[in-house]
Amino acid sequence: MQKICLLGSTGSIGINTLNVIRENKHLFQVSCLTVNSKTELLSKQIAEFKPEVVVIRDEKAADNFRKICSSKVEILSGEEGLLNATRDLEYDILVSALVGFAGLAPTIEAIRRKKRIALANKETLVVAGKLITEMANKNGAEIIPVDSEHSAIFQSLVGEHENSIRRIILTASGGPFRHHEISELGKVSVADALNHPNWSMGDKITIDSATMMNKGLEVIEAHWLFNLEADDIEVVVHPQSIIHSMVEFIDGSIKAQLSIPDMKLPIIYALGYPERLKNSFTVTDFTKIGQLTFFEPDFSKFECLKLAYDVLSQGGTAPCILNAANEIAVNKFLTEKIGFLDIPKIINDSLNKIEVVSSPDIETIFDCDRKTREFVELNY
Ligand code: NAD
Ligand code: MG
Repeated sequence: MQKICLLGSTGSIGINTLNVIRENKHLFQVSCLTVNSKTELLSKQIAEFKPEVVVIRDEKAADNFRKICSSKVEILSGEEGLLNATRDLEYDILVSALVGFAGLAPTIEAIRRKKRIALANKETLVVAGKLITEMANKNGAEIIPVDSEHSAIFQSLVGEHENSIRRIILTASGGPFRHHEISELGKVSVADALNHPNWSMGDKITIDSATMMNKGLEVIEAHWLFNLEADDIEVVVHPQSIIHSMVEFIDGSIKAQLSIPDMKLPIIYALGYPERLKNSFTVTDFTKIGQLTFFEPDFSKFECLKLAYDVLSQGGTAPCILNAANEIAVNKFLTEKIGFLDIPKIINDSLNKIEVVSSPDIETIFDCDRKTREFVELNY
């Protein structure tokens, strides 16, 4: 029986993880659930999955929940609660499904303890990929990607040598604005941007998909997971999202992983690896899909994708600045304080204004994240 600590249980990946566990209760047991503030859903999850500990990051929500919770679960709160749980609790696999920079610190705790990390929180590798991969290698902690593209590449690499890879091809749906002219993008609404053609996900990653920043973050994530240079990571728009990504080898052969889009597949793979676990989730019928098509991404229309390649070449804290500026800008777009095209502008301005440190330690990364947030909050 594997014990699971699930960070972000009320989110899109969190709920899908619990769907996977529900079908596999003979294999997996929930030891900890963490949420930001959605205690109503958490309460139902406690009743069904009976964790020993829950963490509610929002202190006020935690206080209210302590008053009404009738279960004997231990309730921790705040960022300290999150760190205490990941540091002290007994578990085998950490499912890191928080959104944003908040995922970094608890993931580090689990790596220190040599746990398997089922990593959905790509921001962890974007901001601190060098330190995280070094720490994981040193401690022998496995990082198994949950992001569908990286899971596809990971699966395609089973049984292959690292030095036989020529390049990887990350597929992208292209998001809701694939057919828009750049002149129309300034006017798109929050509802338009949240209307993703293929995937149902949390708000932040859905906006990231509309700007194609999501693919940019994934290029950086792939760089650290698979030890490849930016030139060997190509992005191809594939609107059907059936091929989740591909690896081209030095002999010209290409391996890919395919299925209809369903995040439960990469999640169950990360939990079960190296075993494949039977499930009832998905049947892919190619006669219904009909066509698979591929297009070049438009870097001038989707400036965020270009910025992500730029910060990857720049290195140091540049990806951390990009990530923090993007998180605040996306929040501001979601609350209608800025327009869609202000997102890349704010990121660009932040990269121009904030000093890049070339070989940061972990404190420098936290400092850079804080400085960038302050800069964006103050100026926009
Ligand atoms: P979401 O917004 O649906 O869920 C986020 C979860 O984290 C919620 O449970 C929320 O309560 C919690 N949370 C949010 N902010 C927090 C904070 N500051 N401290 C503690 N907890 C906090 O997000 P999601 O779509 O499930 O995405 C989670 C992560 O997985 C992201 O990094 C995303 O890029 C990645 N990812 C998601 C998908 C997907 O299909 N949703 C696919 C690939 C990768
Ligand atoms: Mg993805």
